[in-house]
Amino acid sequence: MRPIPRFPRCALPFVLLFCAIGCHKGELLTFNRPMLGTIITITIIADSREAGVRASEAAFSEILRIEALMSPLRAGSDIARLNNNGGCTPVPISNETFALVEKSIDVSRATGGAFDISFASLGRLWRLGSDDFRPPDARQVARSLPLVDYTKIRMYPDSLRISFALPGMKLGLGGIAKGYAIGRAVEVLRREGVRASIVDAGGDLKVTGDKYGEPWRVGLMHPHKREILLAIAARDGDSVVTSGDYERFATYNGERYHHIIDPKTGFPARGLASVTVICSDPVLADAYATAFFVMGGVRALEFLTTHPGITAIFIDPNMKVSASRKLKGRVDWLEKTEVEWF
Ligand code: ADP
Ligand code: MG
Repeated sequence: MRPIPRFPRCALPFVLLFCAIGCHKGELLTFNRPMLGTIITITIIADSREAGVRASEAAFSEILRIEALMSPLRAGSDIARLNNNGGCTPVPISNETFALVEKSIDVSRATGGAFDISFASLGRLWRLGSDDFRPPDARQVARSLPLVDYTKIRMYPDSLRISFALPGMKLGLGGIAKGYAIGRAVEVLRREGVRASIVDAGGDLKVTGDKYGEPWRVGLMHPHKREILLAIAARDGDSVVTSGDYERFATYNGERYHHIIDPKTGFPARGLASVTVICSDPVLADAYATAFFVMGGVRALEFLTTHPGITAIFIDPNMKVSASRKLKGRVDWLEKTEVEWF
């Protein structure tokens, strides 16, 4: 008879390892789809590949539904109908779009008009996507600027209709709808039983759960080098949204013109290169990132002192980085970076 071997001393780590695998089972899966003018990436930990495919398909369908409802480029969408009507007759709008327009107006009020979905009234003048881009003439901009005014959006909550006080006004939800879409997609994933996920719309994302017991790590791009500058350890429910001057821009005579318009001037906002907002509500994260970009570091910092639930990282045009003190310990820099903590 062979002697019964003594319980090996190395057994304990094995037990722990087994538990680690046993307790955090599930397959890590990633799915991509072009939507909302960007690539949507859904990363989930699912019980099986089949369950993952089913859940991600449901989430993609939800984003597609929102795009059809809110994109100004989709004929028949709420926003297309409103913009084409362009005047004083109230247009019936779905309750979802109505609520998002209401929320946009709330953010406009809170940010002194830095965020203003009626920026789109200038849309014709700024064709960043065209091959022969040239910035509009300052006089043209001045002529259209009065149409950029959120106080002139007339809301009729009882009949869910919207009109404009000034003919020719237009709305664009490009600064807030991605946040809404990722929030809805996360809800759909949850309904499908997914407890750990990242829904990422071209760098604007929301996470749920964690990655096998470790926080999901989210990379933030360097505004001008096109490489990752830092990684944030995201907590369950965090939305991490970035607005930058590098996401969509055109150059003319060596000058860079980007897609975030200062409603006061009608020209691209100047004070910052990138703003990242971290908070739980993806809609507010999206809107505030755009608003802070317009407000610039000083005004945005003032705003943050009265909104403790929101943290942010600012990068100015000279690449000076400042970040909320609450993020200390949750950010890893991939290159040596001096940070001013506020
Ligand atoms: P991204 O779409 O690249 O994530 P943002 O969330 O900052 O970046 O959204 C920029 C978009 O917001 C623009 O393409 C435009 O549709 C819209 N926008 C531009 N300026 C403003 C503004 N002042 N207020 C609200 N929306 C704006
Ligand atoms: Mg935004």
